[in-house]
Amino acid sequence: MSEPIRISRASVKKPKPKDRELSFGTVFTDHMFVMDFQEEKGWYDPRIEPYGPLSLDPAAAVLHYAQAVFDGLKAFRGNDGKVRLFRPQKHLDRINISAKRLCIPPLDPELALKALVTLVGIEKDWVPSTVGTSLYVRPTIIANEAFLGVRPAKSYLYYVILSPVGAYYPEGMNPVKILVVDQFVRAVEGGVGGVKTGANYAASLYASEDAKHEGFTQVLWLDGRERKYIDEVGTMNIMLKIDGEVITPPAGGTILAGVTRDSALALMREWGLRVSERQIAIDEVAAAARRGTLEEVWGTGTAAVISPVGELAYKGERIVVNGGKIGALTKKLYDAIVGIQYGTAPDTHGWTVVV
Ligand SMILES: *Cc1c(COP(=O)(O)O)cnc(C)c1O
Repeated sequence: MSEPIRISRASVKKPKPKDRELSFGTVFTDHMFVMDFQEEKGWYDPRIEPYGPLSLDPAAAVLHYAQAVFDGLKAFRGNDGKVRLFRPQKHLDRINISAKRLCIPPLDPELALKALVTLVGIEKDWVPSTVGTSLYVRPTIIANEAFLGVRPAKSYLYYVILSPVGAYYPEGMNPVKILVVDQFVRAVEGGVGGVKTGANYAASLYASEDAKHEGFTQVLWLDGRERKYIDEVGTMNIMLKIDGEVITPPAGGTILAGVTRDSALALMREWGLRVSERQIAIDEVAAAARRGTLEEVWGTGTAAVISPVGELAYKGERIVVNGGKIGALTKKLYDAIVGIQYGTAPDTHGWTVVV
């Protein structure tokens, strides 16, 4: 039996933006979930309280040595009015995997799920209803011990904040242009690339700003050792369809095990497609494009679900995918996952949790 969640309600409620005014990550709801950890006590005092600034000592470990992990998932309002979280247990399992790698104590998965459902339940009116919009859920753990020595902290804060977000594709899905970088890497074997920690994002900013200045939407990362194999695209997992085979690099190691990646793989295997989790060299992709067998390329992630890639630029060469048009499988996957999220398709996998 987990400790009951204490609830203190906000006395003043914020105005809610209209669905069409929503963007990403700028507006936050009235409440947040918070829980503390101390070495002697474990995790304690789970509570929902009014959304507001945290009080942190300037010496807090997270601010100096980046001992922190997070996750990101969404709640969707279906046509039937029901609010569904998409694969919350899987996201909470992952935050515990990330936490372990950063020497952060794990959450009780049962209490963490109850906290998500209770918080989203209290903020139900904040879940927008236009298709494509959703309530983004951001669980985060930070080391808040005031200590400048380098070792795992003895105290932590777990919190969950919620943000209503707009449709990722308000004007429809358009394939994007991606720059393959070989000057910078996102992750190396044995590092933290396989878990969700803010430091990976900090490390990625320089290359992705460079790419944007050159007119690309994002970067495609190559492996950190040989700069030869494809790792990820921006902050998404990558999938390619070449000559009838769907290929995605193996998760773990340098590649984050995306929940969208896992969902897409499960669906494609059910559809009888040939799916391989294996390394693939950028040269193999370029060669396939030259032969005319590079059928589709897309990214997968919670924010966009599926993001079609129309062109890859590598060492001055343009690798065009499917004439720059969105592929049939890319579209089919997007529709299938979105259908489950909004409750218009049956959830045969038990992926959704109704709030
Ligand atoms: C979060 C993330 C993804 C996508 O994971 P989802 O669970 O599908 O949202 C992919 N790559 C990186 C580096 C990430 O941080």
